Amino acid sequence: MPLLLGAIADDFTGATDLCNMLVRHGMRTVQLIGVPRPDLELPEVDAVTVALKSRTCPAKEAVASSLEALDWLRREGARQIFFKYCSTFDSTPEGNIGPVGDALADRLDAAIAIACPAFPETGRTIYMGHLFVGDRLLSETHMAHHPLTPMTDPDLVRVLGRQTPRKVGLVAWPTVRRGAAFVRDRLTELRHEGCRWAIVDCLEDEDLLTIGEAVADHPLVTGGSGVAMGLPANFRRRGLLPDRGAEAAALPAVAGPALVLAGSCSAATLGQIEAFRAERPSHRLDPLRLAKGEGIAEAVAWARDHLATGPVLIYASAPPEEVRAVQAELGRERAGALVEEAMAEIARALVEAGVRRLVVAGGETSGAVVKALGIEGLAIGPQIDPGVPATVTIGRGPRLALALKSGNFGRHDFFLRALEVMP
Ligand code: ADP
Repeated sequence: MPLLLGAIADDFTGATDLCNMLVRHGMRTVQLIGVPRPDLELPEVDAVTVALKSRTCPAKEAVASSLEALDWLRREGARQIFFKYCSTFDSTPEGNIGPVGDALADRLDAAIAIACPAFPETGRTIYMGHLFVGDRLLSETHMAHHPLTPMTDPDLVRVLGRQTPRKVGLVAWPTVRRGAAFVRDRLTELRHEGCRWAIVDCLEDEDLLTIGEAVADHPLVTGGSGVAMGLPANFRRRGLLPDRGAEAAALPAVAGPALVLAGSCSAATLGQIEAFRAERPSHRLDPLRLAKGEGIAEAVAWARDHLATGPVLIYASAPPEEVRAVQAELGRERAGALVEEAMAEIARALVEAGVRRLVVAGGETSGAVVKALGIEGLAIGPQIDPGVPATVTIGRGPRLALALKSGNFGRHDFFLRALEVMP
């Protein structure tokens, strides 16, 4: 089966979100971490998402890595390219949505590209080009104060217009509501008016399906993971994608000892640690000891002694007052880096010792562990909790089953349940 959809995501968790969406809608999907090496062998998949870190880097770098990813995906035969960014359109007047989209459109000869970050399921809707989060305009939410990408203008036609020299038009909701043929006609009209971009309104899931259908022939589609919902059906309608049902989420079996690593200090993670500790052994890392070069070998030795009995937990997570005390002594960044490095080192040592099933709590913590283990890609499986799929590694190294959970995700019994859902 040839590759159908090739996606480029501007950050890691956004990529996972998109993959999760595609799997839920019947496409076997793999997430690659960074631009893959040329000879990486893909398993049999329908969609690939290359996860970049291009949301806030200089636009030139974002364009370069996105084009590299594009070339790789096209060599693999991808029929349609999806550029995924955040559902709150996180960007600055310099980019990177405009510059990356322009570069992709040029290389793909795309006459016009839609931009639709809407994700009604999570309250992100667009009306008359204005992005809402719940019942507030984007500019009236916490996003107005984001440290890297403050979003102070809710009008996406204007926001994108600042990031590109090309003309940006609007497909307004009354058109979307009338169906895919009307959206297609409006896009043709915009193209004749000289537009190369079109913000597309969207209020509910049905609109996402309409928009998806309308862009079936577009070489490039851009948006949040919501608008990707409508794309698998296009391939099915053309007989290119069989009805896979739950089989789209099937993963190869992985056997071996299980380890949970927690570096997130979110309320959800703290609760999940408590729930796990009531059932299974755990070991706590003390950042003050890590600062003295102590604690890592001890944690590894402890885990090796207990792994044969079932899953074990190593955590650094602490309640806010303890974290503040540690940060006061070590500095916020040093404390974070020490814990992340320790988690990375422990993961490496214990995978070497035979661990094959890993649950990691914390966005930064997951990033550090994935990097330390040299993981090239993940086949995406069934959802454990909203937004968090079970995965299995692909590429070099031993095959590992992984669940990577950031911040506040997951119910209280997440750790043990993840290990049940994982293959
Ligand atoms: P989340 O997804 O919840 O934001 P992250 O892993 O991204 O979790 O961030 C948590 C940060 O807190 C990491 O940098 C981690 O190293 C750091 N950290 C973990 N435990 C402690 C602690 N006890 N004291 C200080 N910092 C900590």
